[in-house]
Amino acid sequence: MSILVLGGAGYIGSHAVDTLVNEGYDTVVVDSLVTGHRAAVNKQAKFYKGDILDEQFLNNVFEQEEIETVMHFAAFSLVSESMTKPLKYFKNNTAGLVNLLEVMKNHGVNQIVFSSTAATYGVPKELPITESSPTNPINPYGESKLMMEKIMGWADQAYGIKFVALRYFNVAGAKLDGSIGEAHHPETHLIPIILDTALGNRNRITIFGNDYNTKDGTNVRDYVHVLDLIDAHIAAMKYLQAGNPSNVFNLGSSNGFSNLEILQSAIKVTGVNIPYEIGARRGGDPDSLVAMSKKAREILEWTPRYEQIDTIISSAWQWHQKHPNGYGD
Ligand code: UDP
Repeated sequence: MSILVLGGAGYIGSHAVDTLVNEGYDTVVVDSLVTGHRAAVNKQAKFYKGDILDEQFLNNVFEQEEIETVMHFAAFSLVSESMTKPLKYFKNNTAGLVNLLEVMKNHGVNQIVFSSTAATYGVPKELPITESSPTNPINPYGESKLMMEKIMGWADQAYGIKFVALRYFNVAGAKLDGSIGEAHHPETHLIPIILDTALGNRNRITIFGNDYNTKDGTNVRDYVHVLDLIDAHIAAMKYLQAGNPSNVFNLGSSNGFSNLEILQSAIKVTGVNIPYEIGARRGGDPDSLVAMSKKAREILEWTPRYEQIDTIISSAWQWHQKHPNGYGD
């Protein structure tokens, strides 16, 4: 039996594939390569290039392979893009999931580990955010993911397809040897942009706003190492394989770091006096997003290994130094 990783050529998916292969799982990857990189996919995994919106293609993969569990990372994930192109998000993310569930149902595959997001919560009324905090997304990206969670809930009731939705906070870092890492085009995330500036690929980093209601006025976010995140996916997969019910978990560290604290850590890790400026606020950024991840720690027995922010940033720095132009594609 195989694990099917959808979106396995992306940043988080490629780390999942690498870990699964190294832990001895038969791993099958589907990726459209629209945002993913073929070079990021561990060579021992079987690779299919195609789109989850293409039902015939997906059917073909499920016919060829004996799939036990699906890990679903294939989604668009840029908040700002989703504000101007909402239909792109509802089509690829939400309609894509409907296709996937249809194919899973037809092939008797009934376990899915799903990449959800802190963006499902919107602007939190209380911190840290727990899984029972209200979900009021403030952008189409978060809305598309919340809709996907709800659709999976109904598909569970009707067809018995069990899911674990993992609501990620800010994922960062890279495999410790720096062989795979984060490479988006265009890059919009804080840590890779800071490190790109440290490399001299950019003149400066602009910090978006310093008049938020936080310790130093810049946004506070909760960072989780990509390898810890993948550990949680494997724990979620085992949880489903053991016959447990569908569930939702936050994945974060319960520690909030401001954007300026992230910059300070990067200056320490890289030894480069990274130039920065304070710019205008970016639309749709809540003051602070910090997770309560107790539930994942208790039920999934998830034990993050790389919680120190300096460790997260130094692993990302390894990757950036070795791959100053990402995957070069
Ligand atoms: N950010 C910034 N400058 C940048 C990119 C991001 O100040 O060039 C800020 C952003 O406004 C937010 C934080 O960094 O407060 C994290 O943003 P990111 O896009 O990395 O992740 P998000 O929280 O949107 O998932």
